[in-house]
Amino acid sequence: MASLREKLARTRQAFRQKFEDILKSGRSREEILEDLTETLILADIGLPTAEKIVEAVGREARKSDGPDVVRDALKAEILAILTRHPGGLKLDPKAGVLMMVGVNGGGKTTSLAKLARRLKAEGRKSIFVAGDTFRAAAQEQLAVWGRKLDLPVIKGAYGADPASVAFDACRRLKTGEFDAMLVDTAGRIHTNANLMAELEKVKRVIAREIPGAPQEILLVLDASIGQNALPQAREFLKFAGLTGVFLSKLDGTAKGGSVVTIADELGLPIKFAGTGEGEDDLVEFSAESFVDALFS
Ligand code: GDP
Repeated sequence: MASLREKLARTRQAFRQKFEDILKSGRSREEILEDLTETLILADIGLPTAEKIVEAVGREARKSDGPDVVRDALKAEILAILTRHPGGLKLDPKAGVLMMVGVNGGGKTTSLAKLARRLKAEGRKSIFVAGDTFRAAAQEQLAVWGRKLDLPVIKGAYGADPASVAFDACRRLKTGEFDAMLVDTAGRIHTNANLMAELEKVKRVIAREIPGAPQEILLVLDASIGQNALPQAREFLKFAGLTGVFLSKLDGTAKGGSVVTIADELGLPIKFAGTGEGEDDLVEFSAESFVDALFS
C-alpha cells in the first residue's frame, strides 16, 4: 500500500516550487504574505479558504521574526482546518451500517469495496447492498467485488425501490450472521430532488430497522476534479446526516490542495482517501501526513 506522501507527489510539486519561490531571501514579510494567497489558489485552495489562511498566517508571522515563521504558521493553519472535525470510522461492532453517497463515476462502488476489504482484514463480516437498482452496471460492478472479496451482495430486481433492498439487507444483518452492511447508492444527478428523497427513504428504513444506523454516511468526492467537486458536495449536504468525506482518486492529481477547501467549506472530516483502483488502494486520511507530504 503506497503512502499518502507518495501519492501526493504531484500536489507537492505543484505547491512547493511556487511556495519556495515566494519565500526567496530578500523579500519582506508583507510581500510574502501578499503572494501567499495566489500561491494557495494555484494549489487549488479556494479564495475564501486561502484568505482565511493568509490572515491567520499574517497574525502569527507578525508576532516573531524567525526565518521559518511563515512556513510554520502556514502548516499550523492548514493542520487546524483539517483537524477541526475528528475522523475515524464509527461503526457499531455488531450492526455496523455505512452508506456511500455521491455522483456517479465519483468512485462510490470502488471505495465501498476498499472499506469492505479493510473491514474483512479486521475480522468483520460485511454484506454489500446494491442500492442503485436502476443501473445494471452498478449492480454488476458490486457483484464483481462481492465475488472477489467473497462477500454476499443483497440486490433487488431492476428498478426496485432501493429502500426495499435496504430493508431486506437489514433483515439479513439482524440474523447475526454478519456484523456490517455497506450500502451502495444511486448518484444519478446531484440536482435531482428525487435522488435526495430516495436516499432519505433508504436512510429512514435502515434507521427504523436498526436503531442508531446508519452510523456512517460518507460522501465520495473525486479529488482529481479538485474544487469543482464542491458544488455537487453542497447538494449532498442538503441530505442530512453526512458523517464525512471519502476522497477518491487522490493518486496522480495535482489538485490535492482542494482537500483543505473541502474540509473548510463543508465542515466535514475527510476520513479516507482513495489512492488507486485496487481494493488495497486506501489510506486513512491523516491531516498530519497530508501536511507533511505537502511541505516535506
Ligand atoms: P461510482 O459510479 O461512484 O460507483 O464510481 P466507481 O466506483 O465505478 O468508480 C469510477 C471510476 O473511478 C472507476 O474506473 C474506478 O476504478 C475509478 N476509481 C475509483 N476510485 C479511484 C481511486 O482512488 N483512484 C483511481 N485512480 N481511480 C479510482
